[in-house]
Amino acid sequence: MNIAVIGTGYVGLVTGTCFAETGNHVICVDIDEKKVERLKQGEIPIYEPGLDILFDRNTRQGRLKFTTNLKEGIQGAEVIFLALPTPPGEDGSADLSYVMGVAADLSEIIDAYTVVIDKSTVPVGTAEKVHAILSDKLSEDLFDVVSNPEFLREGVAVDDFMRPDRVVVGTSSERAKEVMSRLYEPFVRQGNPVYFMDERSAEMTKYAANSYLATRISFMNEIANLCEKVGANVDMVRLGMGSDSRIGKRFLFPGVGYGGSCFPKDVQALAKTAAENGYDFRILNSVMGVNDKQKHILSKKIIDYYGGNLSGKTIAVWGLAFKPNTDDIREAPALTIIEELLNAGASIKAFDPEAMENVKQVFGDRIQFAEEQYETLIGADSLAVITEWPVFRAPSYKVLRELLGEPVIFDGRNIYDPKVMETEGFYYDSIGRNKVV
Ligand code: NAD
Repeated sequence: MNIAVIGTGYVGLVTGTCFAETGNHVICVDIDEKKVERLKQGEIPIYEPGLDILFDRNTRQGRLKFTTNLKEGIQGAEVIFLALPTPPGEDGSADLSYVMGVAADLSEIIDAYTVVIDKSTVPVGTAEKVHAILSDKLSEDLFDVVSNPEFLREGVAVDDFMRPDRVVVGTSSERAKEVMSRLYEPFVRQGNPVYFMDERSAEMTKYAANSYLATRISFMNEIANLCEKVGANVDMVRLGMGSDSRIGKRFLFPGVGYGGSCFPKDVQALAKTAAENGYDFRILNSVMGVNDKQKHILSKKIIDYYGGNLSGKTIAVWGLAFKPNTDDIREAPALTIIEELLNAGASIKAFDPEAMENVKQVFGDRIQFAEEQYETLIGADSLAVITEWPVFRAPSYKVLRELLGEPVIFDGRNIYDPKVMETEGFYYDSIGRNKVV
């Protein structure tokens, strides 16, 4: 099949590459000229494990191409994916200007039957809006609009795309349904379901899924905070809870709050949709409130430890990305935590395996960066772990003790065992577990 993907970011590039991998011819379109130039030179502008192998193979074999020219990009395409940004607008609702703008452009240039597919996360009713824009200029038999929300996770995006738990397709057109079935058939050979439904339900499914996951995180963060007050250990509680098959083990890890480009904006957008429809979605409002508070928990622990004043103190920071295995720092808790530590007078020496370039754009020379994790410790008073990259999990405690001014660790992700910390002689404060002093 000939496929066009409009928007070549985390979702668009993975989508385009994975469809090329199953033998389709894909053209990815982006307005960012620098990005397209890099892609044409064979350079991947994001960090996503495993993407490089597929990208190299498919660009080399001519199945994956890039352009800034929308008309050229959609020439001969049977399907057009919209993988465009839907950032939060000022009032918290999803900003649809990118999606609507491209839909208007497409209405001028589509000249044969095409399935236009919303892959962006968009509020309920958007497929109808895109349909209305297209039908302004195009005859109804020239297009169908489908809602096909994406569930990939950054960091394991290629795997998620190649082997999805399920594919959700919202369409009321039999013709589009047939095209979508053909398109996804290679990805669900093990029998994972493709759920066909109406457009509105498909759009709602994505928001419901992300909001539920965010709710689990906020719930566990509240449990963790209470564990600290009553002297319980959230790790044990998590294991005890999660082994109940009605609950499940995943997404029960407390920490410094959820971040990233999806959960914060999607929870906010769903709450906004609810409000617009006269519904007070009380759980979502709490989920957001809890998360905002949780982002300050680690900095508060650090500031309290130093009696409220960090001037003259240097804090080593391990991990900046909003989660491991990505360079994405959108809404990353690390940004909030570092800002607060700076405001309290601290100097920061940070290391992240992939996200430092992006963080430099935010903080410039207000913080220092290290080439590798142990270098952050030289001249630092204590260590804060913010993102649980695997490389931080089994450090040399001897080197930590030797390099740090004091053997003090603040762990926002509970990656170390308090018993080991005690034996190794550290002051150790984590989330939802008793302090080791
Ligand atoms: P992104 O910001 O990484 O990428 C968007 C791309 O679109 C950018 O490269 C940008 O230059 C390009 N663009 C903007 N306007 C354009 C235009 N007029 N024509 C062509 N290209 C244009 O965003 P993303 O993280 O890939 O997210 C895209 C959508 O997918 C969002 O709605 C998001 O909520 C959703 N989503 C994201 C994830 C994720 O993990 N990142 C997962 C599931 C769904």
